[in-house]
Amino acid sequence: MEHRAEARIDLAAIASNISLLKAASGVDLMAVVKADAYGHGLVEIGLASEKSGADWLGVALLEEAIALRTHGVRIPILAWLVSPGSDFRAAHNHDIDVAVASIAAFSEISALKTKARIHIEVDTGMTRGGFLDEWDEFLTLDFSQVEVVGIFSHFARADEPGEKQNEVQLLRFQSMIADLAAIGINPPVKHLSNSAATLRDHEAVFDLVRTGIALYGLSPDVKTLGDSKSLGLKPAMQLRAKLHLVKKVPAGSPVGYGATAITSAQTRLGVVAMGYADGIPRVAQGAGIFIDGKRAPIIGRVSMDQFVVDLGPESTADSGDWVIVFGDGAHGEFTADDWATASLSINYEIVTRIGPRVPRIYAPHVY
Ligand SMILES: *Cc1c(COP(=O)(O)O)cnc(C)c1O
Repeated sequence: MEHRAEARIDLAAIASNISLLKAASGVDLMAVVKADAYGHGLVEIGLASEKSGADWLGVALLEEAIALRTHGVRIPILAWLVSPGSDFRAAHNHDIDVAVASIAAFSEISALKTKARIHIEVDTGMTRGGFLDEWDEFLTLDFSQVEVVGIFSHFARADEPGEKQNEVQLLRFQSMIADLAAIGINPPVKHLSNSAATLRDHEAVFDLVRTGIALYGLSPDVKTLGDSKSLGLKPAMQLRAKLHLVKKVPAGSPVGYGATAITSAQTRLGVVAMGYADGIPRVAQGAGIFIDGKRAPIIGRVSMDQFVVDLGPESTADSGDWVIVFGDGAHGEFTADDWATASLSINYEIVTRIGPRVPRIYAPHVY
């Protein structure tokens, strides 16, 4: 069946990004594949990352980790958003490492007496996940029923080179490692860096880096770190859709809900078969599509299943033609970064919110 839209995922780009990131850090690499691999497909990207040299996989949810194991992933997997009350026995049975960020979770895991593999998550200044107020009490507990594999924390401002908070978090991480060492616990896998920290400098790589956005070929922050191209990253996702319809309209035609746009001259409009139900941000202003070597801007509001673009009066595009919504930008098409700017968002959100109605096709990009 021909699709009306598709996200083409180039697994060779994923492999290339893994090589670059491994060379940049010089330590083991955890491919972060949470949230359906940032919209790229959990199982496919998990297996491809393993094949391409990733040493670990990282996910938020236990069910994501179990899906990876069920589909044959063999390398270690860490799940870090596993709350008290979760099925810690299932985690152990599937050989999944879990992050522990509270005494409540630690107590449940210890009670199983399975020597479960845990990574202690510490809050070094982001004030989100990890031990903070419970830390001193945690250090007094009995660790004999678990295997402490790792200790980790997460940067809040890694994409801001020179930012003082990064140094504060690094020092705090080192001091919490020392707290653990003082009670005889020395986790072999210490990890702190996300994509931005990995690309930015080497001071915080420790034993493992956890890279998400860069794995997919996108920059953690175009303004402070440069775009994909300047970083040597290859965007893995190309989003394409069909022109459902092309129509010639006169000047003065109101377009879309609320008639927020009115054509200023005679032109040809294209109806693109994707909408906000597919993850096209309704607020997007100034993005559009690419066809026949040219960009065509969005005109009017994005609807649930469709949006309209102004192809221009000379366009020869036809109903049924494919257009590129975003790609790596090499041919002049919009990028995920352009869509992020147009939507007051970040590239992370643009790719992650591409909806489940859009099939992921594992194949090279097409032009
Ligand atoms: C999402 C996440 C990462 C990956 O972050 P990127 O900026 O995408 O590299 C790393 N560590 C944790 C704990 C995360 O939640």
